[in-house]
Amino acid sequence: MAFQADSFIAQNVRSVPRSGIRDFFDIVQGMKDVISLGVGEPDFVTPWHIREAAIYALERGKTGYTSNLGLLKLREAIAVHLRQHFKVSYDPKQILIAVGVSEALDIALRALINPGDEVIYHEPCYVSYSPSISMAHGVPVAVACGAENGFAVTAEAIEKVITPRSKVLMLNFPTNPTGGTMTRPELLKIAELVQRHNLVVLTDEIYAELTFEGEHVSIASLPGMLERTIFLHGFSKAYAMTGFRIGYACGPIEIIEAMMKIHQYSMLCASIISQEAALEAIQFGEPDTTEMREQYKLRRNFIVKALNDIGLKCHSPRGSFYAFPSIASTGVSSKEFAVKLLEQEKVACVPGSAFGASGEGYLRCCFATSLDQIEIAMNRMGKFVQRISR
Ligand code: PLP
Repeated sequence: MAFQADSFIAQNVRSVPRSGIRDFFDIVQGMKDVISLGVGEPDFVTPWHIREAAIYALERGKTGYTSNLGLLKLREAIAVHLRQHFKVSYDPKQILIAVGVSEALDIALRALINPGDEVIYHEPCYVSYSPSISMAHGVPVAVACGAENGFAVTAEAIEKVITPRSKVLMLNFPTNPTGGTMTRPELLKIAELVQRHNLVVLTDEIYAELTFEGEHVSIASLPGMLERTIFLHGFSKAYAMTGFRIGYACGPIEIIEAMMKIHQYSMLCASIISQEAALEAIQFGEPDTTEMREQYKLRRNFIVKALNDIGLKCHSPRGSFYAFPSIASTGVSSKEFAVKLLEQEKVACVPGSAFGASGEGYLRCCFATSLDQIEIAMNRMGKFVQRISR
């Protein structure tokens, strides 16, 4: 019998589409003179003292495994950092170092979900949320958020989709791709709702340090929430350390232990070299983060004004490094807009539809690139919009 590789692929993997971002960037590969506002990655190189810590770790022969949970000194430093900056108190035993927030998110979902459990998340959202839920045998339930509300999610909207199968609420503020943030009063309403319906919260706060206006409030810090929240954070964005692949999860000891089982059998531990670098970052990297945030803010102000001037209505993201203008006025789909913009003007942005159905009609423009490049990209985009709007 002929071997059909396809037929061996598990149904829950087969049904998951490829990432819209990856597909799109396959097109970008090989094109010359493209300005990319595409991939969500800092343009800054990791600060030198952090790279040096990695080199020093190698020089000292730090090349082995660490404890499954991660280096104790790193978990201790994270506990101090979280107390100071997020008003949450964790014992280092409640902190698991993972291979990026990506792994932390995956093992959290796998540790929590029984087949058929519903996971609520707000949309437009990070591309991996819905697939990660499906691959963990859960049922993704999206709550659409709009620009009129600054892409914040409301307790009322969440309550409408709650059913007896609802188990997890995923939050991501500041949000990729919209830059949405939440106020304390809104989060308090969500906390009340979550407790009333006995849900567990998975909060991905990877952009917390890149908040430009207002305070960043973690839902984990609100009354009654620490014991029902899994807090995810990492080093990729605030310290420009995407390639180091370090993230972490904090939460109730029972859940962290369950996640640990998956982590120890599938990943064993995160790279010791990267963990040493992360320790340097969390202890001494704050001035770097502050400087990068200031740069992002300048770029944010520039790009938001430029997009609005072009005629693409864009709210001002209060955090993250993404602008999310509406392209509805042009009358084309977000995919068509992005593909034509790339082909005709060599500017790469991500179609809003890559971030879920409610992202249609928008474009994600990452402003983690130099002001000069952003200015050229905006000029090109202006010409393009004029042309297609005629
Ligand atoms: N969560 C969000 C909201 C993101 O935007 C990203 C990366 O873009 C990640 C998680 C993945 O982060 P990491 O590099 O820590 O795996």
